[in-house]
Parts: sequence; structure tokens; C-alpha cells
Amino acid sequence: MDEVIIVGAGPVGLMLACELALAGVRPTVLDKRPEISDLPRANGVGGQIVRMLDYRGLLERFAEGSPFAGRPPGFPFGSVPLRFAGLDDIPLRMVMIQQPRMERLLSERAAELGVEVVRGTPVRGLTQDDDGVTLDLPGRRLRAHCAVGCDGGHSLVRERLGIAFPGTTDDEVLLLGHFRTGQVTGLFEQSRVMGLEPGWNHTPHGRLLLTSLQPGVHIVGVREKGAAGPVTLAGFQAAIRRVIGADLPLGEPIWLSSTVTQARLAERYRSGRVFLAGDAAHLFPAGGSALNVGLMDAVNLGWKLAAVLTGRAPVRLLDTYETERRPVGVRTLTHTRAQAALERLTGEDGTALRDLLTEVFAFEQPARHLANLLDGSDTRSGTPSKGAGEGVPAGEPGGGAGGVVAGGAAGRGGVVGADLVGRLVPDLQLSTGDGPTRVAELMRDGRPLLLDLGGGATLDGDWIRVVRARCDDPPADTLLIRPDGQVAWTGTAGLREAAAEWLQSV
Ligand SMILES: Cc1cc2nc3c(=O)[nH]c(=O)nc-3n(C[C@H](O)[C@H](O)[C@H](O)COP(=O)(O)OP(=O)(O)OC[C@H]3O[C@@H](n4cnc5c(N)ncnc54)[C@H](O)[C@@H]3O)c2cc1C
Repeated sequence: MDEVIIVGAGPVGLMLACELALAGVRPTVLDKRPEISDLPRANGVGGQIVRMLDYRGLLERFAEGSPFAGRPPGFPFGSVPLRFAGLDDIPLRMVMIQQPRMERLLSERAAELGVEVVRGTPVRGLTQDDDGVTLDLPGRRLRAHCAVGCDGGHSLVRERLGIAFPGTTDDEVLLLGHFRTGQVTGLFEQSRVMGLEPGWNHTPHGRLLLTSLQPGVHIVGVREKGAAGPVTLAGFQAAIRRVIGADLPLGEPIWLSSTVTQARLAERYRSGRVFLAGDAAHLFPAGGSALNVGLMDAVNLGWKLAAVLTGRAPVRLLDTYETERRPVGVRTLTHTRAQAALERLTGEDGTALRDLLTEVFAFEQPARHLANLLDGSDTRSGTPSKGAGEGVPAGEPGGGAGGVVAGGAAGRGGVVGADLVGRLVPDLQLSTGDGPTRVAELMRDGRPLLLDLGGGATLDGDWIRVVRARCDDPPADTLLIRPDGQVAWTGTAGLREAAAEWLQSV
């Protein structure tokens, strides 16, 4: 019997596989596709996962050759420009990377960690009993202690578990095309002459996106009322004509796709021995947050599942996966629905709303608030003993185990002490007996970390890594950091109890 079977080798399934393997449990990953799809989907990742990739030593690979990696100068929030100039302390980071490359890098990493990814293997059925999970594959069955459905929006795993996926389906279709041309500026110049700008353009008949992420290739998007279906170049050109009333010099098509966005959240993230993560658990209608949330689901679940399967932590630790991650899904649905609504509104009403919000977003506080929201750092995780209701938005009373920082999550760069509990640990610069280092480097083995910055704390056991270090501006004298980078506790009083809550082995 396998320990864990992951259904789906998309980015989330692969990330989960890496996290499990790092924590000492080697999963089997099954995917129905014979190979990684070259279909362009995500153009990048942004938010907390970028720091987490650094904490796993993967950021350099992701950023290599990327047209952009770092703190974004702004973000099109539902086609309203949001600018971060002067907000040097916001946590938001982004890396432009095409999804097929991302999946290749994660597959490579999974292979380095000894994970077996079995492609061309569709899972056709799933049942569970007291002892394990049975997966039906063509001509055979597999048994595992646990399974995770990372099988995307149409998740068979979710459907077989009978977990509802309520939400809405857009009545608009998004046609996206990648076109090769030697003259990207030619398209943009001609568009300008026609009164169009790079980014989203609203017309009374729909919307047109003009952008380019690499030299020689431009991306054109058309949104109009309709349903998804096969798309041809002639159909694409006709849609452009309907929306802007003219033709564009598109160039040679590389990819054409048609998508209808949905806003949905699984009613539960777990049923017995089976879990859901990524698009199988949530679909967001806008905003480029899907991978941030999905990959962070994987990071949250990986160490917990491994800790329980290896007997290091109590089974109830697994309850915290849903209590921590579903509220993040709820929160992300809120801002991505708002973005979709802002994008969708056409006519003078829509223009007025976007113009007014452009003025509001120019103020520091709204820009900071939205940066934290997009980052995912305005929700805090809790502790297992506190039970359900964890993951409340920071800035509200009752947010996890700590107090609240005025001004919301990660406030003005000065989150300290107990306010760090339930947040992703900042990448502190440290000096140890072995020389200078930083938190990111200490997190790479995926073990819990007790960072003693002068409190003299210690914990027994061989799982938690204890590091004594100096830090110029320590946010607390002691930090207990979970393998997923979340601060579990600060200070020495109550430390042992907190460690016992999360990490039974102490
Ligand atoms: C046009 C477009 C642009 C996007 N842009 C962005 C963006 O810029 N930023 C962002 O964050 N997100 C973006 N997204 C969303 C992002 O692509 C998804 O959130 C992401 O792919 C979800 O990853 P996943 O691993 O959960 O699921 P998927 O990537 O859908 O992977 C699921 C895997 O499961 C496999 N599978 C399914 N059923 C079975 C089965 N029965 N048996 C075995 N295998 C199975 C599939 O073959 C697939 O490999 C975009 C999406 C689209 C469509």
C-alpha cells in the first residue's frame, strides 16, 4: 500500500509531492496526461508563494530567464491601476514564468527528491474505508493510506467524495491568443492609433487585452458574451472585430484558447482520508492569485500529512488544513470576484467606477491594504487547540493566537512579537556561529525551526532544528517556525506548550 497518492501532476500536485518527499514521505503522483501540457495558462506566480519558493531553494530556478522577478511596480486590480511606488516594505513579490516551464521545474525537483510521477494514467474511481483509499485505474487498482485530489477544476476526486462546489460561471468567454511577430511594437503602435492601450481596453461590446511578456510574442485577449468552445484564427479575428470594430495585425498564432471563468469554493477540503488542493478546491474568476493559493495549500498540507504519517504529530493536526486554508479561499474569492466585477462593467457606469477607484487606489493605505490582500498575508493561521475559525483576516480580533497589528496584515513592515504568530516568517538576515545566513536558507530542509535570537530557548527532540543567531532588528527573542514557514510561537513563555501542540515529538 502506498502512503499517499496524489491525483494530478499539475503545479499543485507536484508542489505537494515535493513537500511530502522533503518531509520523508514519498508519494506516487498519477496524471492522466502522457506529458506536461504546453498549453499556456498562468504567466506567473505572485504573493506568499514567491517567498516560500525561496524558503525551499526553488526561487532561483523559477526566476532564471524570467522577464520579471521581484516587487511589482503595480498591479491591474480588475483593470484599475494599483501602484506600489514608495511602498518599499510591502511583502508582495511576483515572478513571471509560463506554467509549462513551472511544471517542468517542479517535476525536475520532484524527481531529485525521488518522487515517482506516473503519467498517462487516468484515475477513474475512488472509494475509501477505515484502512485506506482505493483508486481505480485502467486495468488495475491502487491502495494508499491517504489521497489528495490535485486534479483541477473538474476534479473527479471531489466529485467522488460528494463534496459540493458551489459558485458561479461567467456568461462571458475569454479568448486568448499568443502570436509570434517580429514587430510587437507594430501591433501596439497600430493599436494606439486606433485609441487602444496596452492592458485591458473596454468597448461597448466587450474587452480587448493587449500585452507582451517576451520579445517577439504578444498576447491578445478578447472577452465577450458567450460560452467556451473550439477556437480558430478566423473565429478569433471575428471576435476582435465584434469588440473593437476593426482588425488587428495579429501575426502567426502559437496558441489559441477559450475559457469561461468560474468562481467556486469546495464546501469541504477533506473527507476522511482524502484531501483537495489547488483548483480542485477553488476556482477564482480573476486576479492571478490561483497559483499563490493553490501552491500554498500544498505547502500547508504537505508537512502536516507527512508528520501524521510518520507519527510525529497527532492526527488532529490534519483538521487544521481546512480550518487554515479554506478561509484563504473565501478571502481570495472576495477580491477576485471584486476584480472580475470591476473588469466586467462596461459603459459609462463602469468607466466612472474605475476612474473613482483609480483616485482612491492612489492613496497609500488602500494600496498597502490591497498589496497585502494580493500577497495573501492578510489572513493568519491559528493553532490546533483553538479549533475551527482560524485563518481569520488579520487586523480583526481573534486572529489566531496573536494580537493584531493596527493597519492590517504585515502593517507597515513592523510586525513584531506575538503579532507574527500565524504569519509567514519574514526572511530575517542572521548571523550565526557558522557565518551570515537568512531564514530562507534555514528553512530549506523543510523541518520546523526554533530560532533563538537571544531568548536562550531550547527544545528537545531531533525533528525541530534549533539555531542560535543574532539579528540586527529581531522581531522577537525566540521564534518557533513551522515547516511551512508559518510562525507558530514567539517568546519563551508558553513555547514548550506551543511546540507540543504543533509538533508532538517534543
Ligand atoms: C488562461 C489562463 C490563465 C491563467 N493565468 C494565471 C496566472 O497568471 N496566475 C495564476 O496564479 N493562475 C493562473 N491561472 C490558473 C492556473 O492555471 C491554475 O490555477 C493552475 O493550473 C491550478 O493548478 P492545479 O495543479 O491545481 O490544477 P491543474 O493545473 O488543472 O492540474 C490538474 C492535473 O490533474 C490531471 N488530472 C485531472 N483529472 C485527472 C484524473 N482523473 N486522473 C489523473 N489525472 C488527472 C490533469 O491532467 C492535470 O495535469 C490561469 C488559468 C488559465 C486557464
